[in-house]
Amino acid sequence: MRPASCLRLSLLVLAALAAASAVLADNETLPARDPKQPVDEAYTAKIRKYTTQPYFSSPLVDYLPASKTVPTPEAVLGDVAGAPGTLPYAEDVYKYMRMLEKATPRVKVFSIGTTEEGREMIAVAVSSEANLKNLEQNRQRLAKLADPRTIKLDDAEAGKLVTEAVPVYYITGTIHSPETGAPTALMELAYRLAVDESPYVREIREGVITLITPVVEVDGRDRMVDLYRWHLAHPKDFYPPLIYWGKYVAHDNNRDAMGMTLKLTENVLNTYLAWDAQVLHDLHESVPYLYDNTVGDGPYNAWVDPILVDEWQMIGARNVADMTKFGMPGVFTHGDFDTWSPGYLMFLAAMHNGISRLYETFGNGGADTRERTLEPDQYARTWYRPNPPFPKTLWSQRNNNNYEQTGLLTSLHYFNENKRLFLKNFYLKSKRSVQKPSAEGPAAYVLPANEPRAGVQADLLRVLLKQHVEISRATAAFQVALPVKKEKKSAQPASSEEKSKTPPAPTTRDFPAGSYVIRMDQPYSRVADALLDYQYWSPKDPQTTPYDDTAWTFGELFGVQVTRVTDSKVLSVPMERVTELRPTGGVEGEGTLFAIENHAEPALATLRYRLKDGTIDVAEDSFQVGERKFGRGTFLVRGVSPSDLDGATKSLNLHAVALAAAPSVKTHPVRAPRIAYIHTWISTQAEGWWRLALDNLQIPYDYMSTQAIAKILDLNAKYDVILFPPVGWNYNPGIVIEGLPTAWGNPLPWLNTPETPNLVGKNDSTPDMRPGLGWDGVAKLKSFVAKGGVLLTATDTSQFALSIGLGNGVNAGSSEKMKIVGAILGTRLVDAASPIAYGYEEKVSAYCDNGPVLSVNSMLGSRRRRLGPEMGARPTGRGTKDDPDFVVGRPASEIPDEPEREQWEVPIPTDEQLHNNPRIIPPANRARVIFRYADSKELLVSGLVEGGDEIAQHPAVLDVPNGSGHVILFSINPIYRGETESTYSLVLNTLLNFDSLNAGRTNAEK
Ligand SMILES: [Zn+2]
Repeated sequence: MRPASCLRLSLLVLAALAAASAVLADNETLPARDPKQPVDEAYTAKIRKYTTQPYFSSPLVDYLPASKTVPTPEAVLGDVAGAPGTLPYAEDVYKYMRMLEKATPRVKVFSIGTTEEGREMIAVAVSSEANLKNLEQNRQRLAKLADPRTIKLDDAEAGKLVTEAVPVYYITGTIHSPETGAPTALMELAYRLAVDESPYVREIREGVITLITPVVEVDGRDRMVDLYRWHLAHPKDFYPPLIYWGKYVAHDNNRDAMGMTLKLTENVLNTYLAWDAQVLHDLHESVPYLYDNTVGDGPYNAWVDPILVDEWQMIGARNVADMTKFGMPGVFTHGDFDTWSPGYLMFLAAMHNGISRLYETFGNGGADTRERTLEPDQYARTWYRPNPPFPKTLWSQRNNNNYEQTGLLTSLHYFNENKRLFLKNFYLKSKRSVQKPSAEGPAAYVLPANEPRAGVQADLLRVLLKQHVEISRATAAFQVALPVKKEKKSAQPASSEEKSKTPPAPTTRDFPAGSYVIRMDQPYSRVADALLDYQYWSPKDPQTTPYDDTAWTFGELFGVQVTRVTDSKVLSVPMERVTELRPTGGVEGEGTLFAIENHAEPALATLRYRLKDGTIDVAEDSFQVGERKFGRGTFLVRGVSPSDLDGATKSLNLHAVALAAAPSVKTHPVRAPRIAYIHTWISTQAEGWWRLALDNLQIPYDYMSTQAIAKILDLNAKYDVILFPPVGWNYNPGIVIEGLPTAWGNPLPWLNTPETPNLVGKNDSTPDMRPGLGWDGVAKLKSFVAKGGVLLTATDTSQFALSIGLGNGVNAGSSEKMKIVGAILGTRLVDAASPIAYGYEEKVSAYCDNGPVLSVNSMLGSRRRRLGPEMGARPTGRGTKDDPDFVVGRPASEIPDEPEREQWEVPIPTDEQLHNNPRIIPPANRARVIFRYADSKELLVSGLVEGGDEIAQHPAVLDVPNGSGHVILFSINPIYRGETESTYSLVLNTLLNFDSLNAGRTNAEK
């Protein structure tokens, strides 16, 4: 059968989805080397030697064309790409790319920024000499397609540009540092694209600009190469796991495409958009042998253009077909990755009118050739994987490089064959983004000028600016019509009395001048819409295992007002573009005493540390000065010069008001605590986000491991607060204490040595990663709290604190049916007088990933008795349901009322429980619930919540007194992926009020 007809058959299946898809042209170039071009025989021999089976290669990569002038990767590697035992540092990869640049006009290297640790990131452009000469002219063409407003949405003009422009295909490698193969594959790919004269490759070179960032996570790459070198020097030993990748986050560096907190995300997006690229193709290595996961599985992200979905299918299906025809086993698309969350690096393209792609190939986590045994679900034949990988095989880094390069070359070739279609689609997707207001809507999102949390609002807007979203500010007040909510038909018609009780919903909303307007008639409206909108993941969705978070609604997670406006009148409001967010804070009036209102802005904590020598007190209640009202938690600042205060508050978006006299309100001092911040040597994934947040807020802390804190003789002498952020992956309470086994194996050093010069960076070190906190450490933590220290924990470390007896009647229950996958839940303020709640309003949305479900009790070591109507249900007897029963022959006895206690309240002990019971916790020692989860009906704010009854009304934030100290427990994760600024201050308030946490506490048994 001819290849063309074979392909046509498989495309029939896609025809319904891919209306615009092109079938293989009869004259399409077949992959074959140019017989006239000599082959680099030595290099080619090594390729074949390192490839473990001929079918793990392809006619595209089983040889290397020779060049008299252009060096092969061997010039830097000392061996071929993918050779066993060879793993280059980023610096060596760059060195090679720059050698290529020197040797051929077909390669140009661009510096695209630096990492958190100051390492360079690069992008390498490979194309024909002519294309690279005309980069600027070409870019101008692409820019017009990217922003159709520049050509007045003129399809004819776009059509002309589409025929003239050279598209850009951007490939990014090794964002995940233990996935090590991409850099050498990309070195060799750059060589092939520059040198190979076969018609197949020449067409790519002349038709496409291939842009390559060979190493995305540069800090992590260098650490990983260190570890591999350590492994080569100690071949019989276990080598340390890669505990740190980048400075802050590990695997989650590929979940930053929404929050844009990491340099690598910013640098890649800026590059992608500066080139107006059409594709962003990110390389990973965790699935045998090549999984094009872009097609993935449902649910698909609701905000992507269906045109993109079609493109995924086209490229993915063709990619599988081409490689299958080469005889390469284990190439497939579909699979179990859902395409819902836009947090992945590749999704930067999906959200900016391009094509996102992602490969999972098969890596060995280093450059050893290894016998690999797969799991049954990896080698099983399925409907989407008719040619699965082998259950057992000898696998080499070269095999991996073969798959990566073959996949990319066939993709590039197919992309080039159909580039007019893809460029046209690029224009269409951009145009449809500009037309959003009149198509699906909304017309805009509005963030009001009178937002009380101005600094947090500015932070959210800054994320949008990093996403290259255009922001405008209204120069006049305006009004918009609100959509009329359709009333749900209830089973029983509401009585006329009930109807009149509900006030009619407002039909308009007014916004003051200065309000921010995110117009949806702009090319990047899609990303703004996706980030600011709400998500709903049906509990009945056929996808039962969401791949990542199910919600991210930024207005909720930042805790600022965001209004989705469908009224297109908003677009004609007079407004001006905002390119920079100028701080709006400062000092009002003159005097020596200043009040700063508290709206739970994280910047208040920064202010406390910045004004080191000033005196700051906090009001334990609301107060009034003249006409002006100040809420509970207001800061009262003394001993700071007005100019210093003006400078500090201005830059932090805080408002200070001079007061003529001290208000008569109870206050306590706000002090900057000395903070010990602990991490495990098991995982730094979850805590890294906390570290990043504290660093951004300029809050100093001593960063140390569980091992180190166990060795400090007197914790209370050195620290006021110990922060123990979540551990995340692989957590269990035992592993925090025990660490990795030390009874066998060898020490796992995390140290800078001549072999491993990059491991430590600015993070932590240890001669042996294995030991955990140990029982001495447990005793130290307990004694620290007993003597007055504050221990703050969240999610899994809260469970840890409970497991070592720091809970005083708090239990972490296991949920049975509950499924809350990275969702946004409603919480409710329970104890407004607690300093932890200062600045917060009654309703706060929070990030929750399945709890834990915490419960409070008044007795140690027992679960709370379930109260509620079922307990008071009457037995069978005389009378109606609500009548008292009787016993024949004696007067009726009074049934004592059960004290009514809500789910989040500590139950009042019964007389029987109180009798001679040392386990009853005295009121002053009981847990204080600061926030609880909302009632079941109001629990879901955004995302997937199934079986929410199990956590509804349960405590979400708790302050548990212990000895003279406190343990603070969170069921929510308050600091997460740079996206949850709304709940940061729950942590920061704990810090600033560490020695006054009992303020406002009432111990009375109600
Ligand atoms: Zn990965």
